[in-house]
Formats: sequence, C-alpha cells, structure tokens
Amino acid sequence: MMPVFDRIFYNSFIKTMETVAQSPSMELVNGRYQIQGIDMLELVEAYGAPLFVYDAGKIAEKYQQMTEAFHGLNCRIKYPVKALSNINILKLFRKLGAGLDTVSIQEVRLGLKAGFEPHEMIYTPNCVSFDEIKEAVKLGVVINIDNISILEQFGHEYGDSIPCCIRFNPHISAGGNSKIKTGHIDSKFGISVYQQRHVQRIIKANNIRVHGLHVHTGSDILDARSYSQSAAILFDLAHEFPQLQFIDFGSGFKVPYKPGDVFTDVYEIGEELRQAYQLFTKEYGREIEVWFEPGKYMVSEAGFFLMRSNVIKPTPATVFVGVDSGLNHFIRPMMYGGHHEIFNVSNPGGIQRIYTVVGYICETDTFGWDRKISEVREGDILALRNAGAYGYSMSSNYNSRLRPAEVMIINGEAKLIRKRETFDDLLRSQVEVEL
Ligand SMILES: *Cc1c(COP(=O)(O)O)cnc(C)c1O
Repeated sequence: MMPVFDRIFYNSFIKTMETVAQSPSMELVNGRYQIQGIDMLELVEAYGAPLFVYDAGKIAEKYQQMTEAFHGLNCRIKYPVKALSNINILKLFRKLGAGLDTVSIQEVRLGLKAGFEPHEMIYTPNCVSFDEIKEAVKLGVVINIDNISILEQFGHEYGDSIPCCIRFNPHISAGGNSKIKTGHIDSKFGISVYQQRHVQRIIKANNIRVHGLHVHTGSDILDARSYSQSAAILFDLAHEFPQLQFIDFGSGFKVPYKPGDVFTDVYEIGEELRQAYQLFTKEYGREIEVWFEPGKYMVSEAGFFLMRSNVIKPTPATVFVGVDSGLNHFIRPMMYGGHHEIFNVSNPGGIQRIYTVVGYICETDTFGWDRKISEVREGDILALRNAGAYGYSMSSNYNSRLRPAEVMIINGEAKLIRKRETFDDLLRSQVEVEL
C-alpha cells in the first residue's frame, strides 16, 4: 500500500496576497475609521486609550470560512483559548459551534465557565505535572498526552477507564520563526513518531484506549509542504490505532500581516485533505472526526489595538512616535519580530511621513521601524492591525503599567468586555508585611 504521504500533492497551500485588504471590518467612512458603523475615535473617548477592539462579525466570518473549507471532513474546530481568552470571545465561539483547545487547567476552567461541555474541550498541556492532568481528567476534558512518562503514568492510573489522545511530533520543520516552530528535532513538543513502538508497548501493557491523534507543527508555517506532510504522517500512523474517534491537525494557519505576505488558503487545504481523508476512511473502515485548532486564523484580523501618540521625537536617525503602550500590552513585534501595520486613525487624510513607532517601556520596545503613516501629531490615535491574536493574552504589568480595556463590537454595538486595570489591581495579590 502506497503511504498517504506520497499520494498528497504539495499544491501551493499558501498564497501570496498582493495587498492586505483594508480588513473589511475596519472601514474609512467620510474620513472616520469605523467598525460596523462604530466610530473608533468615539470608542476611545468612551473607554480611553490604549484599547483593544474586536470585531465579532469578522470572527464569525472566519469561522464560517473554516467550516466551508473543511466540509466533508467531519470537521470540528477547537478554538485555542490562548490566542485571545476573554470569556466573551469564548462564548462567541460556543455560539458559533466550536469547541476549545486548552493548554492549562485555568483555560479548562475558563472554558467550563463559558458554558462548554467538557467533551468539547481538548487539553494539550506541555511539561505539566501529572497532578494537573488528574485534575483535568476529573473535569472530564479530552486529555492530550505529549510525553512518554505521562503516558505511562496515565496508563498506570486509569488503564482502560479513561481514553486519551496522543500528541506526536512528525519532525516536520514548519519554517518561519524558530521561536514558534514546534515540529523540528529540537522541539520540546509531542512524542516523536520514531517512538511509536514504545508508545504501542505502553498502550498494550495498560490497555490504554487511544481515541485521538494530534499534531501541531507550529504557528506561521511558511513551508507549504509541512502541513500536508504532517497530515499524511498522521493518517499513516492512524492505522496503528484502531479505536480512534478523531485526528487533530492542530494549527499552523498563517494570516497575512503585511502586503506581499503569504497566507494559508484553507480552501485548498480542505480540498487536499478531503482526498487524503477519503482514502484513509476507506482503508480504516470507518469515518472519524477531523479537528483543527486555528487561533491566529480566527481572531488575528478581527482585532485592532488603539494607542495614543504621546510624543513625537526627532533624533539624528529617525522620527520616533512614542505611544502610551509598549511590550507590556503587545509583545509580538519585540518577541517574534512580528510585523503589524500601523495607521493614523486621527488623521487619515494627512501627508505620508516616515516614522518609527515605539512604546513607553524602559526597554527597546519598537512596534515598527520606518513606517509610512499619515502625519502623526501628539495626541493622535494610532491603530495596530492584526491585534486579535496573542495581544491581550500575552500582556503583562511590566513597569507596573496597567493593562488596557477590551471592547467587542457585535451586531453594530460596542460592548466593554474587560475593564481597564486600576492601581488597586497592581496591589491586589501583594502582601504587605512588617519590615
Ligand atoms: C498555540 C496553539 C494553537 C494555535 O496556533 P495559531 O498559530 O494561533 O493558530 C493550536 N494548537 C496548539 C496545541 C497550540 O499550542
């Protein structure tokens, strides 16, 4: 039998976008930026800056696209909580029909609080204690096991009473940024596919019921082949696990951040996967579910981060715009070298000038070098694009700064979904002792 690996053709899953669409969610109407008719400058007046704004309509549209692209695959979307974890966003995903991907026991609790059934959630932790896994078992979520030692303990503790999923590392290098690759040989994630015989021995010894196989080869897959390669490896591996109810392909779906960026064409992935899936089910003898965990794909473009320009500072090298935010609120540019477009909400018609946009934190926290932005004046509101994923969820109180508020725009209405932090929040868990 020819392995599925060879049967999948590596079509260009990833396409180049000529321009970043002025995300249809944010429109310039009569010189004013708005989302679903809500004026951004009025939002800032009402809730202050900096401010995270999410367009629920855009999230719904992305969810729709995903389910369309993967029709016929018996597909389930497990939205990864870590991308954007506000409970209202989770509730929105529940309404849309998604389940959740969780990576900590706290995310599991958030999901339960948002109304998800335990069986709709997969728990994919990495390097957590077995105690935390036992807690997750008690809560009833699908347990995804990512190392041999845990698999052994799981088998000893539960035998055949609790099924599990196994996360494999197919050793496909996902390309792109080394900090977000998870499939390569040095990765800490997953159980190597080369350990599959060892895995089978542990399963047999303990009668472990394996209901799922999982692979997640990392965010920002630039190499178009890596997705289909890891999918093919998993389909092949699946034949060794007769009790499967699902295969989880994780994520890696890339969204464009700037003109010319590559992005994932989910319709093409769907097309390819359908062919592989049909072959697989014929050989496997029955249908199973196919799960996906798109984080960025679902929420990145729906989010905008509004910041106020505090100072304009010309130096011999550039003109800095210093904003009322920094790596404490939005760390992707500094941590991953992520490119996020920045535009001036207050002066859309202004002449274009070149700026370097930096934060107010006592670190080099540069949002973007040499950006062409319509003339920025002190006090103007700038918007940073693609701020939905890994924005607020990676924020901190560094420099004892307060975290911003979050607003969701849904059905033409702006709703405050998280209050801006106050000084009291900074001290809440601190214990003042006698010195
Ligand atoms: C982070 C993560 C995701 C989401 O990745 P995106 O790049 O945001 O789509 C999915 N699954 C697992 C297991 C993850 O750790």
